Amino acid sequence: MVLSDKVASFLNRASWIRKMFEEGDRLRKIHGADQVFDFTLGNPSVEPPPQFREELKKLALHPEPGMHRYMSNAGYPETRSAVAEVLAEQSGLPFAARHIVMTVGAGGGLNVVFKAILNPGEEVIAISPYFVEYGFYVDNHGGVLKVVPAGADFLPDLPALRAAITDKTRAVIINSPNNPTGVVYPAAVLAQLGQLVEEKSRETGREIFVISDEPYAKIVYDGVQVPSVFKYITNAVMVTSHSKDLALPGERIGYIAVSPRIEGADTLVEGLVFCNRTLGFVNAPALMQRLVTGLQRVSVDVAEYQAKRDLLYHHLTSLGFQMVQPQGAFYLFPKSPLPDDIEFCRQALKHNILVVPGGGFGAPGYFRLAYCIDMEIIKRSLPAWTALARELGM
Ligand code: PLP
Repeated sequence: MVLSDKVASFLNRASWIRKMFEEGDRLRKIHGADQVFDFTLGNPSVEPPPQFREELKKLALHPEPGMHRYMSNAGYPETRSAVAEVLAEQSGLPFAARHIVMTVGAGGGLNVVFKAILNPGEEVIAISPYFVEYGFYVDNHGGVLKVVPAGADFLPDLPALRAAITDKTRAVIINSPNNPTGVVYPAAVLAQLGQLVEEKSRETGREIFVISDEPYAKIVYDGVQVPSVFKYITNAVMVTSHSKDLALPGERIGYIAVSPRIEGADTLVEGLVFCNRTLGFVNAPALMQRLVTGLQRVSVDVAEYQAKRDLLYHHLTSLGFQMVQPQGAFYLFPKSPLPDDIEFCRQALKHNILVVPGGGFGAPGYFRLAYCIDMEIIKRSLPAWTALARELGM
């Protein structure tokens, strides 16, 4: 046996996204790439904004001595200051470079946070449907993920959260705009969650953090704004990246921001920097830190994503699919028209449509489609969706 028992068992429960992606490869070989409608992966279809290429060109033409060396494990002070300046504006709080740690994407950042705060057996609460990697990340650091289903319209079910919090709870992780539902949590919900966590922290005598995973914060539609979590929640730690807002997922650049209102914020940051180093990340990629410093107020053009959302949302609802209209991110999460979401995904495959069963997000009975793909493929998929709906008697 070359693998640990745990990794072997995780592989056995291989991710649905991966399974469907492999199925897509098989179908592409048979039918040709333009006849397969692969809605499985959350990989941005748009290119980074032009400002990114300009910055890249500048750095290539005028390299600075030492620009590829190690730096402080927290990242470049200029980059951290640029991030802090925007967060201070959004939250009205005195954010400074010392509250920011640059990370290897949001995935790297979440691992750093969990390593820094979790004792063995302590719990992190996630709200389903949720990004399935959370379970593996928490497990990496000896913690246990406890899943509480969302309430109406996929918003947090506060009474259920209250009941789930125990003296083992170390954090509640939220993700707004949400993968897979596209829901954005309103300010009032954040305020209620903040109150609950404060109350429970007092009751249990330990800080409970709200970890706000926000890589989609700038991918929002219809003028919706994502409220600053720092305004409403005292013990907030934000983890985010430029994977989606600057379309740079392969470049692995993100950051952690610790609320200046957290008692012991400086010690927490010290722990995070230590974990960034000792998890082997050492520091976030140097070149990317330099590039994103001047791009904190820039993002991809969301109009393109909105056009895709609108087209698919209207087509699918007109066929009878039921879903919450997403306000952000680039996913739809309709109810499965068959009680068994895996069976529905199999039926969709017959029409060369690839989607992921809701069970893969801790919410069976739904399916996720990622519309961050070429508009032409989306348009070509519409008759296939119609045929699928007819076949299912919708
Ligand atoms: N959190 C959520 C909700 C995501 O959807 C993703 C990526 O899809 C991540 C975190 C990880 O993003 P990153 O590429 O920054 O590691």
